[in-house]
Amino acid sequence: MTAELICVGTELLMGQILNTNAQFISRELAPRGIDLYHQLVVGDNPKRLKEATLTALNRADILIFSGGLGPTPDDLTKETVCEAMGLPLVLFEGEWERIVRYFESKNRCPSINNKKQAMFPEGAKILDNPNGTAPGCILEKDGKAAILMPGPPREMQPMFLNHVLPYLEKRSGHILYSREVRIFGMGEADVAERLKELFDNENPTVAPYVKTGEVTLRITARCQTEQAGLLMVAPVIAEIRGLLGDLVYSVNGETLPQVCHNALIARKSSLAVAESCTGGLLASAFIDLPQSSKYFIEGAVTYSNDAKIRRLGVKHSTLKRFGAVSAECAAEMAEGMRKTSNSELALATTGIAGPDGGSDDKPVGLVYIALASPSGTIVKELNLFGDRDRIRLVAVLNALDILRRYMV
Ligand code: AMP
Ligand code: MG
Repeated sequence: MTAELICVGTELLMGQILNTNAQFISRELAPRGIDLYHQLVVGDNPKRLKEATLTALNRADILIFSGGLGPTPDDLTKETVCEAMGLPLVLFEGEWERIVRYFESKNRCPSINNKKQAMFPEGAKILDNPNGTAPGCILEKDGKAAILMPGPPREMQPMFLNHVLPYLEKRSGHILYSREVRIFGMGEADVAERLKELFDNENPTVAPYVKTGEVTLRITARCQTEQAGLLMVAPVIAEIRGLLGDLVYSVNGETLPQVCHNALIARKSSLAVAESCTGGLLASAFIDLPQSSKYFIEGAVTYSNDAKIRRLGVKHSTLKRFGAVSAECAAEMAEGMRKTSNSELALATTGIAGPDGGSDDKPVGLVYIALASPSGTIVKELNLFGDRDRIRLVAVLNALDILRRYMV
């Protein structure tokens, strides 16, 4: 099934607003196997819009329009598309009453221009617009369909998700069921190598997405029902787990912070963090999530040597002998934090985020993470690459990974 997208609005051509509708719609079509070969922006000009519609009718099964459904005289999409398709407009009484009621609820009167918003061709499917006055519609003729939606993204997006996608799925005879498998601790190339055979699967497909420091696999089944999709995807997830073991940290879309957060709550545990190079990012990863008050005791950004000594009790001699970026310092930071905050668990980070401050034996990207727990202290040395932002972010992810491995 091929589709063509036509976004209508002179403001788009003038660069006054960004065509985010095109991005939103295209992104939803691609994984559903609907081929979008052309995207077009046309101004509020009926002649050019009609030409564009006729061209699209020649080469696509489904025409998707956004914009130009408003009440003002320059909003001409529906009139123009109907003319191109040879579909005369008639007043839909029910729709007109709905528009009148909408205005009454706002203590206003509809204008004569609003009447055209209740005009559709015979047989049109009206798409409800709870967020505005302009309803959308689906028009069908000679095996082709034109889908018309309003331009404002807050009106278009729910209409697309709630009405247009189900229509497209029904028309194409299948739905897509997908699940995400998230992996930490192995690069994309190695994941691809281990899972080589799976990447050739046609249904379900397995596709990798790389985010900074981690790899997500999206398993997608083309199927008739969600239930069937689940059954198709489950053995693939089991196979990935078998091949990657505990590198897989979630199979239901949960992020690394969420996995830790849920485990901390389930264990009725408590946590405090002492951060140097991550400067609050680690604390924030937890506090971003509602309910973190159930376990999060405190976070301290102990950036200077003095703060590490004063707040965490890191020993002078440790700093002198091993330096602030050392396994010994990280361990004392975590242990000091655990003791002074009375938390069950404490994480600490210390490292060289760059771009300066590195040396031959302690290069930029050298980071130590420590976890202090009732069963002792674990320290991990990392040698990270990238700029300051990346090093700090990946340090946080590693701290979370150490914590989740300890707990689950
Ligand atoms: P319209 O439905 O043509 O009256 O569009 C009204 C408003 O929706 C415009 O002024 C824009 O703010 C917004 N809009 C229209 N088309 C798009 C688009 N393709 N992408 C993002 N916003 C849009
Ligand atoms: Mg417009």
